[in-house]
Amino acid sequence: MTEGPRRLPLWAWGVPCALACLAAWSRLRGVSGPETLLTDAAVWGLSTLVLGGALHLALKQKWRLQLAGLLLTTLAWVTQVQDLSQRQAGAGPDILLVTLDTFRADHLGPNTPALNALVQEGAHFTNAVTTAPLTAPAHASMLTGKSTPEHGLTANGDALDVPTVVPQIAARGYSTAAFLSSKVLERGTGLNQGFGLYADVWTWRGRQGVFPVVSVLLGHGPGQRRGDHTVRQAQAWWRAQDGPRFAWVHLYDAHAPYAPPHEWQPDEDTQRELAAQARTTPAPEDTREWMQSLPERHSASQRALYAAEVAYVDHLVGQLLASVSPDTVVLVVADHGEGFGEHQDAFLHGANLYEPSLNVPFIVRWTGHVAPGPQAQLTSIEAIAGILAQASGATWDTPGLGAEPLSVLAFTPGQQSRSTMNPGPAASVAALRFQDSKLVQDEGEAQRGYRLSTDPKELFPLAPTWVDPAATQDLQRLLEHPPEPLGQDAVEQLKALGYFSH
Ligand SMILES: [Zn+2]
Repeated sequence: MTEGPRRLPLWAWGVPCALACLAAWSRLRGVSGPETLLTDAAVWGLSTLVLGGALHLALKQKWRLQLAGLLLTTLAWVTQVQDLSQRQAGAGPDILLVTLDTFRADHLGPNTPALNALVQEGAHFTNAVTTAPLTAPAHASMLTGKSTPEHGLTANGDALDVPTVVPQIAARGYSTAAFLSSKVLERGTGLNQGFGLYADVWTWRGRQGVFPVVSVLLGHGPGQRRGDHTVRQAQAWWRAQDGPRFAWVHLYDAHAPYAPPHEWQPDEDTQRELAAQARTTPAPEDTREWMQSLPERHSASQRALYAAEVAYVDHLVGQLLASVSPDTVVLVVADHGEGFGEHQDAFLHGANLYEPSLNVPFIVRWTGHVAPGPQAQLTSIEAIAGILAQASGATWDTPGLGAEPLSVLAFTPGQQSRSTMNPGPAASVAALRFQDSKLVQDEGEAQRGYRLSTDPKELFPLAPTWVDPAATQDLQRLLEHPPEPLGQDAVEQLKALGYFSH
């Protein structure tokens, strides 16, 4: 009687693989979030089983299979142990950084109860400005403490030239994670430095997974996601850590197009008012008048939708604040504001440096260290890096709390999200913002100044002679030697995301 091929026992690889799956499940709980936990765990479990099965078929000797299974299990557990050892090293307070995309400073008010409550507990910097009215450059300033020409990421699609503060925070023993809501902040920017988890892998319907290869196979999502998905993933990660924790949560909802979730749509009165405005629109034959009133009508309806998005974002901030302890250091800041047509056709953001885009909300709650109440001194979003370092005990060389810059440099290469009103080529703009005045220079034009104390709407440009001559020379130099323009690849990527479209 001939002996057939020897059947190897299932447990030789099945048991170690099952243990590896269990380890993966417990690890994925903290990174996948409720939206994608089942999918991610299934992907991990299936790929582990497929690997085990392949080993089962490929190897003929029992002891080799057992060794392979053992190695697999060890690998899974090592990833767990590494995390635990990192968590035990530090002892600083938990830190939560919430960045609100496209959030106008003047929209803090009746629509924002959660942010109002935070303002009662923390310092509210009422004269805070961004360094760029563009998402990636502004966030790079927050994490590096530098202006855009200094850190090198001057346009969406560029990459960072310098280190951020986050690796220093991680070196203090913090678990670090970032939860993004827009592809503009994906890891190609270099903003992922130091983050243990950088949640920027888009899958179906904009939700996120942790397996880039699988998401590519399944097809990328739309490149942005609703804030409630982002918040749920962040909350799951926060709960799964033993601390100290540093999380950066980015909420993109207030960015155009303004499409709040159904339950956050404008109330009935507002909707009636908007419908009435539409009915009183001049007859179609009066095309010229209709065109002239377009910015106003556009602004009215868009403002209502924008306000609804703001209320929704505030609700999400409230949910985040409810999931962290009161002694968590909380920073809430916007990357830039938004234009509502205050200056000719200056809607949206990215192409000009007027105050609606430049002025941002900036709140810091650090109980026992920062006195609550309004602070009127000029503040740049660059201070974020220094404050994060101060709170975590990290070594860092850019100023944080207490920094009172005499001026803040803002720059935009004129990149804009969308413009139906001004489809011409974009020009670079640079500005120096002082405590209550500013100096602006558009590419190829003369410098102009504004006294914001007497002209807050920037309606009356002044000759720049009253400003420090050194400052005017700085601006001149910057525009004469502007940062390198975007490469064609980056331009194509941004076009695919809807930038530059008309
Ligand atoms: Zn933005």
